[in-house]
Amino acid sequence: MSVIQKAYLTNSLTHGEIADILSSDEYNKRLFYYADLTRKEHNGDGVHLKGLLEFSNICSKNCCYCGLRRQNKNLKRYMLKPKEIIGLARKAVSYGYKTIVLQSGENNIYSIDEFCCVTRSIREMGAHVTLSIGEKSENEYIAYKNAGANRYLLRIETTDEKLYKKLHPSMSHENRFECLKILKKLGYETGSGSLVGLPGQSISSIAEDILFFQKSGFDMIGIGPFISNENTPLRAAKNGSFYTALKVMAIIRLLMPKINIPASTAMETLDKNGRVIALQSGANVVMPVITEGEYRALYRLYPGKICLNDTPSHCMSCISGKIRSIGRTISQTNGDSNNFIYKTLGGAA
Ligand code: SF4
Repeated sequence: MSVIQKAYLTNSLTHGEIADILSSDEYNKRLFYYADLTRKEHNGDGVHLKGLLEFSNICSKNCCYCGLRRQNKNLKRYMLKPKEIIGLARKAVSYGYKTIVLQSGENNIYSIDEFCCVTRSIREMGAHVTLSIGEKSENEYIAYKNAGANRYLLRIETTDEKLYKKLHPSMSHENRFECLKILKKLGYETGSGSLVGLPGQSISSIAEDILFFQKSGFDMIGIGPFISNENTPLRAAKNGSFYTALKVMAIIRLLMPKINIPASTAMETLDKNGRVIALQSGANVVMPVITEGEYRALYRLYPGKICLNDTPSHCMSCISGKIRSIGRTISQTNGDSNNFIYKTLGGAA
């Protein structure tokens, strides 16, 4: 039995096996085939479309790879008013989105009450709310949960503590893990993820990341290739590889069959069919941007971001067409992962 068949049948791989798969291209064809089969068997053909609302690019942190970092003075900053956020969410719901993902740089410019009000308003429209707003206190997480937030995304980026410290000045690796624990404890459908191809990142550390995700039992994992940004200290670093990121994503699908895995926009920056290839290699979620006008370009985590001049309604019809063209459907459910549903029903995920 090949190592990929073993992963397909048992949903398990050792650290050495993962490192082996990542180090060689000989497994690629089987890996992507079995990851796609696993996605189909555990999640069906439906693709969850989740509207990504990038409501502020102001950030107090200084992550070395990110264009929103505090010290980047070459970026015009913006923050949408709560009313504007609610207005854009309403439009997205009218286009058919069943989940709104509220994402921003890490900042405290909105009061907890304001943000609860935004969350509540979107829930009243019948949509689910995913938050991606960084490290907060337990009380803040509780307030948003009580206001109706369903899910929370907080990527660990790397489990390698030394590398994390180097890339995240004055941030605590320990606190990030702690936040994830709290989010899970509070009953959020919790997502994490990593960057692949960071300067100084080893294959062994990527294998550790994958095993950490599996051990932690997250409900969603987002994998992005590192893309070098000219306005960061990593401007001269080489971009991560599309195929390495794709392999990481496919391995995660084999080890965590019921979770949600997005076909990330960053993948499409590196390959013009990136999201479709990802959907055929284990992914089951796409998160089109629903922010409008100049804000789409100003949320510039990395260069080469796609669909900058499009409108949310155009993005919806464009991605829906691509999904249908590969024989998949647009999911009509609220976007919960089967992992979360299964756990909530009391099964072992
Ligand atoms: S990765 Fe997040 S926390 Fe770090 S600088 Fe960018 S927006 Fe801020």
